[in-house]
Amino acid sequence: MSQKEYIGFNSITQVGEILRERNPKEIFLITGKSSYDRCGAKSILEPMLCSCRTICFSPVDETPGIKDIQSGITILSQQSCDLVIAVGGGSIMDVAKSINILSLNPGSIEEYLIKKKKMICRGRPLVAIPTTAGTGSESTRFAVVYVKKTKYSLDHDLMLPDYAIVDPQLTMTVPRYITASTGMDALTQAIESYWSIHANETSKSYAKEAIELSMKVLPDVCNNPSAESREAMMKAAHLAGKAINLSKTTACHALSYPMTSYFGVAHGHAVALTLGEMMGYNDGVREEDVLDVRGKNYVQRTMKEVFSLLGAGNSGEAARKINHLMSAVGLQTKLSQLGIKTGEQLETIVKSGFDSERINNNPRALTEQAVRGILKKIA
Ligand code: NAD
Repeated sequence: MSQKEYIGFNSITQVGEILRERNPKEIFLITGKSSYDRCGAKSILEPMLCSCRTICFSPVDETPGIKDIQSGITILSQQSCDLVIAVGGGSIMDVAKSINILSLNPGSIEEYLIKKKKMICRGRPLVAIPTTAGTGSESTRFAVVYVKKTKYSLDHDLMLPDYAIVDPQLTMTVPRYITASTGMDALTQAIESYWSIHANETSKSYAKEAIELSMKVLPDVCNNPSAESREAMMKAAHLAGKAINLSKTTACHALSYPMTSYFGVAHGHAVALTLGEMMGYNDGVREEDVLDVRGKNYVQRTMKEVFSLLGAGNSGEAARKINHLMSAVGLQTKLSQLGIKTGEQLETIVKSGFDSERINNNPRALTEQAVRGILKKIA
């Protein structure tokens, strides 16, 4: 499925072009409660949308969950909307993608999320407009949904938004911590994509550019943001999204979900915590635990390429670069600094993280023992 992209400052005004092309009668507009106004999108979009009936919806919860998706589906099913516009961070875009597709596929949300029932119908045309620079959800076929504390993913080609509007202006208001955590999400996604067992030449070229851009710009965009650094970070996040759309993410993402759902660590911060340690782990791949069908030598070569993209000569140096970068943008690098204790709490991450489907995309197999060892190193 192809997507139309509008990238750069003021690209949000291209919504006017989309409205002329689609001529919708009724629009379903999904936004964050306060970020829609704060990021400046509301004042630009409102005059454009006034010519057609617009149904507005904002999720109640900060993390994407079944309750909000069900409320959105109920409202959308009672209306005759023929265009959906999502404006927000990854959470809002994922809720919008879920509402849109599930509203036209029969059956309960749980059937699709948990029992993996196959989606057969496209949603309505969807315009995705990110207001954070991190997830790249505007360019992926995934939507994350938490059921109680377990993370699930909807995953289908039909879920790729029809339009992605990637306007860095909308991220100018993002505070430092969210800029840092979302930025680290983009970098981690790009690195995981590069070493994923599903990586191919195309995903690697997106990932390479995303890694180079985010390594270069992350300190500036967090500590001294400018129009240029916001633009570069937004581009990096979008490219990382395109990369994982092909390759999916791996162990760092798998281990992050319980850190977020049980201990409230922001998504991007959580994925970055194990990134440094995974460098050494994956570099130590052996014939007996390689998961990539291209073999051990391929994985080792890939890891060397990752180190080189980070400006490092080996796994230890690469891990130090990641830790140094996290500290430079104000992110803690230890679980204890985030209130997560060894013992029962660490075991919760081992058990729930190990269950995630993403763990098997890692180039080197992980045992519970290996995961425990990695987490203890960052305790
Ligand atoms: P988020 O969407 O949860 O937003 C974080 C915070 O930033 C919120 O409080 C929000 O109100 C605020 N915010 C958003 N835009 C703002 C702006 N312009 N100015 C000021 N504040 C603003 O965070 P996120 O990191 O963008 O998204 C995380 C979610 O995305 C997680 O659920 C994660 O699993 C998911 N995700 C999805 C994909 C995918 O492909 N679908 C990929 C990666 C991550």
